[in-house]
Amino acid sequence: MPDKQEVLFPLLNISRHRMGIDGRGVTTLVAGASCPLHCQWCINRDILKQNEYEPVSANDLYERVRGDDLYYRATGGGITFGGGESLLQAAFFAPFRDICGDAWRLCAETSLAVPRQLVELAEKTIDEFIVDCKDMDPEIYHAYTGGDQALMEDNLRFLLEKAGPERVVVRVPLIPDFNTEEAQQRSAGRLKELGVTRLDLFSYVRDRS
Ligand code: SF4
Repeated sequence: MPDKQEVLFPLLNISRHRMGIDGRGVTTLVAGASCPLHCQWCINRDILKQNEYEPVSANDLYERVRGDDLYYRATGGGITFGGGESLLQAAFFAPFRDICGDAWRLCAETSLAVPRQLVELAEKTIDEFIVDCKDMDPEIYHAYTGGDQALMEDNLRFLLEKAGPERVVVRVPLIPDFNTEEAQQRSAGRLKELGVTRLDLFSYVRDRS
């Protein structure tokens, strides 16, 4: 049983042996529950609504993912925290790092739609941030996510300043029915002006099932 003071991670699922999808080398995606946004084409919407997850301690999680230790070390990979919104679990990252050590690369997939304190906390431990910015236009952003683009942009500015652009990948999606290729290019241009050097332009594939 975990200690009462221990920070627990709300585990939704673990996906092993990923290559080139969410960080360098071989990675294990560890997905956590809950998200402050309400993206229209969220593939996790039903899972997040059910809110069924398993609270695990840093040690519990380490025991479940340590079997791939050799892969992580050989390829420069490690653990990618996703979700939901991974930075809601920012207090978990340092205790997990204490157990897994420095050889594993820790990444966080995030929308940055969280309070600044969580970004500050995560920055102390996470090696690389994979930011899904949605769109830089406030109206498009709000229509698609229900959230506030200014919060995401403020947090991104902070992260670029504090962590440096080499630790930040920004993904810019083409979102069916919400933005256009022109809007995607405008977002990319705006992000470059902010100092982003690692951009990934891609398209959401809408699940029509
Ligand atoms: S940020 Fe991700 S998990 Fe959250 S609602 Fe949007 S697509 Fe879903």
